[in-house]
Amino acid sequence: MIKDWTRRIFLTKTAWATAGASVLSAQIFQPKNNKQPNSTVSDSQDIQYTRKVPVRYEADIVVVGGGIAGISAACAAAKSGAKVILIERFAVTGGMLTTGGVANFCGQMNGQGEVFDSILTDLKSFQALGDPKRDSVFHYEILAIILQELLYRRKVQLLLHTRFVDARIKNGQITECLVSGKSGLEAIRAKQFIDCTGEADVARILGFQTIKGRPSDGLQLPMSLMFFIRHVDPKHAKIQLPEGWFQRIETKDDLPMTSIWPDGPGANAIKIKIPMYDSTNTESLTAAEIRARRRMMEVLDYFQRVEKKNWLLDHCSPIIGIREGCRILGDYVLTVDDLRAGRAFEDGVARGTYYLDGHKPDDDKRTYILPKDQLKVPPYQIPIRSLIAKDGKNLMMAGRCFSADQLALSSARVSTTGSMMGQAAGITMALAVKKKCNPRSVNPQEVRQIITQRGALLDV
Ligand SMILES: Cc1cc2nc3c(=O)[nH]c(=O)nc-3n(C[C@H](O)[C@H](O)[C@H](O)COP(=O)(O)OP(=O)(O)OC[C@H]3O[C@@H](n4cnc5c(N)ncnc54)[C@H](O)[C@@H]3O)c2cc1C
Repeated sequence: MIKDWTRRIFLTKTAWATAGASVLSAQIFQPKNNKQPNSTVSDSQDIQYTRKVPVRYEADIVVVGGGIAGISAACAAAKSGAKVILIERFAVTGGMLTTGGVANFCGQMNGQGEVFDSILTDLKSFQALGDPKRDSVFHYEILAIILQELLYRRKVQLLLHTRFVDARIKNGQITECLVSGKSGLEAIRAKQFIDCTGEADVARILGFQTIKGRPSDGLQLPMSLMFFIRHVDPKHAKIQLPEGWFQRIETKDDLPMTSIWPDGPGANAIKIKIPMYDSTNTESLTAAEIRARRRMMEVLDYFQRVEKKNWLLDHCSPIIGIREGCRILGDYVLTVDDLRAGRAFEDGVARGTYYLDGHKPDDDKRTYILPKDQLKVPPYQIPIRSLIAKDGKNLMMAGRCFSADQLALSSARVSTTGSMMGQAAGITMALAVKKKCNPRSVNPQEVRQIITQRGALLDV
């Protein structure tokens, strides 16, 4: 059924930013009122236009974002019988785990529930899970295939190359979302929406309350770029960075935090820290991407020239790795104290098992917000209230953009916990559809029962 939908849209012209030359002098963009800081036009020049947009699809549930949280939400909801559409802006699903080049699961891998179990089973059958050093490492190109097939088996309608751009809301109830794909601007009508964008894109455009960064200055956990190198025969080794390009790193001490991972697809993965950028600001994110690729060449040059490694650049992740984006304020904000106490909640629907992996926001070295002896936490639960947006009636969230403080996020952001959160949100929304209500009216005990029936461990 195609209907017309009219929406007012405000546009503000923006200017391109240049990437900072030195990491610690890089400008930290903290825009106010959603305006780009380097905008070349004044507020008074905002434009307004009206356009008719076809309602191209209808579904019970729209999941926005196809990372591990979104995949888990969509698959869990579909298993409960809901008609689900998953929107993903890129060509592949998997988010940070695939497009971001993170090829490793952290946190407890068993007892996450049937969606995650199914992913592990498929990775094993492709012989794409584990290497001699770590069981949690996987081949991310294979993961991308497994995830798309999982969605297809569950009859989730997947729209790739489709970016969520706006939503229409009436009396706190989101009625349609507006997406932009290769077919143009289209609307999708649904009863329930789940924001799994990592950056709270749905909530932000609606003006819902969000939380971001360190309380004192808003700085987010640092980003990191994943790139991949090939080992070559010494006779094919070379120094790839030409004279006069970028800065030379001469000693190990001058490297940013650099982790060399066992295996990416056919190559070693190298992770370099790129702090002090804002993932929710176009100019800042542009600067981060540019800075990261420069840094990649500087670090590679150090290894090729100074350490005489026989490495050549193989490929680089198409998107910088974002640890912390923007979170949606929920009915409850999970805190680091909850994690330290190993807290159980009556409405606990997911479980976290990873340590407080909170890298210092303003440092590119291997530094943490907390002293090393304070990083460990016992298993803890995540209440359903942290997955329900405080503003509005029918928006849930899962994964990196759930409702938590920065340190709680530093643990709960990992893939295993993200999958559990997604599963819980999917099951809750499917129940809401069945009962013709909104997520707040769903009995958390019923959600918990289904979650445990599907093989997830909630015990703490
Ligand atoms: C450098 C780095 C290393 C890490 N290492 C590990 C590790 O070893 N093990 C581990 O378990 N975790 C690790 N993590 C954390 C983990 O990878 C992520 O936190 C987790 O994968 C996030 O999942 P998500 O689904 O919440 O978000 P994402 O993976 O970010 O997924 C969000 C998805 O939404 C899509 N999207 C965003 N906006 C829109 C929009 N407007 N419209 C449509 N689609 C949209 C994105 O393209 C993406 O696919 C690491 C993270 C980083 C950055």
